[in-house]
Amino acid sequence: MLTSNRMNKLHPYVPGEQPKDRDYIKLNANENPYPPSKKVKKAAVSFIKKNIEKLGLYPDPDSHELHAAIADMLNKTGGVLCRAKTTGNITVPSEQDKIPFTVTPDMIYTGNGSDEVLSFVFYAFFDSGTKFVMPQYTYSFYPVYAGFYDIPMDTIALNEDWSLNTKEMLDHAKANNGGIIFANPNAPTGLGLTREQVRQMLLNANPDRIFIVDEAYVDFGGESCIPLLAEFKNLVIVRTFSKSLCGAGQRLGYIVANPELVNIVTTVKNSVNHFPLDAVAQVTGKTACMDIPYYVETSRKVAYERDKFYNFLSENGFYVIKSQTNFLFARKDGISGEDLYKKTKEQGILIRHFNTPGIEDFVRISIGTSEQMEKLKNAFKTILKEI
Ligand SMILES: *Cc1c(COP(=O)(O)O)cnc(C)c1O
Repeated sequence: MLTSNRMNKLHPYVPGEQPKDRDYIKLNANENPYPPSKKVKKAAVSFIKKNIEKLGLYPDPDSHELHAAIADMLNKTGGVLCRAKTTGNITVPSEQDKIPFTVTPDMIYTGNGSDEVLSFVFYAFFDSGTKFVMPQYTYSFYPVYAGFYDIPMDTIALNEDWSLNTKEMLDHAKANNGGIIFANPNAPTGLGLTREQVRQMLLNANPDRIFIVDEAYVDFGGESCIPLLAEFKNLVIVRTFSKSLCGAGQRLGYIVANPELVNIVTTVKNSVNHFPLDAVAQVTGKTACMDIPYYVETSRKVAYERDKFYNFLSENGFYVIKSQTNFLFARKDGISGEDLYKKTKEQGILIRHFNTPGIEDFVRISIGTSEQMEKLKNAFKTILKEI
């Protein structure tokens, strides 16, 4: 056989479909419906026009300017965009989100999307000899990395109300002397733990084992755990530009952690690819972090449309989980998740259905613009009439 044993055991992640055959309204991959800010567009155009020769040189391997811009954005917003207060060029975090220390650039590591960042974090901190633990339903890339690096793991069932069973996860981590990972707010449920709930977990967890919180969706209304970095040296927070920073095509993800952990992940990076971020991504990423008011506004709009669509679904007999993210997870008696997905697709709108046992009745709906959500409402009304 041509392939390695390692290769034969791979089970790759399947992302939301990106069809080219028809112009669908895409509400299936939790992308942001709004474009990057005008300043980002300008920065990209100006780079191409004025600095194109820089594409002939290697970019900054450690993205220093971008790291400084990310740290600055986190200090100004408290790490939750939709609640930050902006007046002109001044941005301050809401009371709830204030970080009791200054996030410094050496606390930031960036990579080619948080997917790549996560894979390096897995490599660096989870051991092949020790089981780590994660929720039964969470970001489905985690088990893919576990398979890729041959790291053993277990999953813990969610509570009845779809919230995370923090006690069982902790008990498992302690019994196995292993690490923990979950998304907060979680996907695909949309529910989050409060910072205090996570703090209580950390207080009871083994300080010598890694504790990873994936905050991909936190900007839409969760509570960030960045303030906890002052207290816990084993905490790694993973974040992305793909959702709230309207930049899925930029491929930018990052971690916020204490500098020792950032250095460790940098060592992994330098053992795989010295330059995961191209020069244009570094410039546009930095510019995005400097245009906070735009992203505060778009995150708020998404959160507003989400709550409106939540009401629509509840009023129309759906069971829908209250979400702190840019998506809703819902099911309807009388129609399977797969049928709802298919019939919605026939109407030109893509939503996500998972064939995963236990959640196969649900669909996951990414929140689009107000016009897109109106169209989805109409599509659902038509479909509901037929069942
Ligand atoms: C979207 C998502 C990611 C991946 O983000 P990229 O930066 O686009 O790779 C990571 N974690 C969770 C929970 C996500 O939903």
